[in-house]
Amino acid sequence: MVELAAFSESYAEARKKFVEAARRAGAKLTSYKHPLERGPAGEALFLDVSVLGPGNASRVFVVGSGTHGIEGYSGSAAQRAWLRSRPRLPKDTAVVFFHAQNPWGFAHKTRVTEENVDLNRNFIDFAKPLPSNPGYEELHPIIALKDWNEDAIAAVFAKLDAFRKRVGEKAFSDAFNGGQYSRQDGIFYGGMRPQWANGAFRTAVETHLVRARKVCYMDLHTGIGPWCEHIYLCFHPEGSPARERARSWWGERAVNLQGVTHKKLATYSGTIIDAFTEMLPAAEVTTIVVEFGTLPRHEMQRAGMAQRWMRFEGPRDPVLAAKVRREYEAAFYPADVEWRKAVLEQSREFIDRGVDGISSS
Ligand SMILES: [Zn+2]
Repeated sequence: MVELAAFSESYAEARKKFVEAARRAGAKLTSYKHPLERGPAGEALFLDVSVLGPGNASRVFVVGSGTHGIEGYSGSAAQRAWLRSRPRLPKDTAVVFFHAQNPWGFAHKTRVTEENVDLNRNFIDFAKPLPSNPGYEELHPIIALKDWNEDAIAAVFAKLDAFRKRVGEKAFSDAFNGGQYSRQDGIFYGGMRPQWANGAFRTAVETHLVRARKVCYMDLHTGIGPWCEHIYLCFHPEGSPARERARSWWGERAVNLQGVTHKKLATYSGTIIDAFTEMLPAAEVTTIVVEFGTLPRHEMQRAGMAQRWMRFEGPRDPVLAAKVRREYEAAFYPADVEWRKAVLEQSREFIDRGVDGISSS
């Protein structure tokens, strides 16, 4: 029996449910409050961390939700449902949930932070020169629509297709969504400085995970993969022990890109999983990204451009902006009952598998 009540329609509701479920399960909670920003209803924003099991466990399975704000509604539901499943933990094992890693984006129902930053491109070393993405420089004027209408959108896609044919699938992915650090009003913008959410994540990792000897970090997303299915993105190199652990815990599909709807994955800059690994040099670290599939890639690219249009052009046309917003939200957080049931059923299984994996590795 799945409980659709795990899902929420606002950040405040999701946070309340998560906190309640964590307390009921006997987890220890720590909250990191955003000092400046608020949600749309004036609500305070937090990264909340629950620790179930011994605080000094040497094996820790970590699940993060909401790196991409709005994508956290399904991750939050998965976390809450798992906490309510009366889990029994193996010896010397803890399960740590990071809830709403980009709480501003979660509350405002967008992938990005208060500075239009993609948190999953923000974990770069800002002391070094910013990475360059010449391909994005070429795409930005194409993508940066002033007017949102079907003719204009079709013209953008024709130009994107021509670009992709010219440079190939990999260079197209790198340009489009690999991350860029030059256009503050662009898409997949990595920022000019660490976001508050970046610092909060690092503080939480330092506080809760430094004693772990074996640790797995799973980052939950939506938007890549087939409808009603989850897919895995494993970035550990071919032949590495970490990649073999992922394969043995979740099967071949954890490493073979089964179901991934991108023809070629971009080389991403500044991801949260890379930051996590770098922060725990003494531990045996496994990282995995899990995406719940929603719409085809073309629709998700459209949603990415809609996000930019709503933020930078939308205020001039609030009626249209509201319509575009409904489409955008459906692309990252479908209301469909079967989809939501699939999230709960599948997440229960892959979190259980991860806990078993970390405790027996
Ligand atoms: Zn995402």
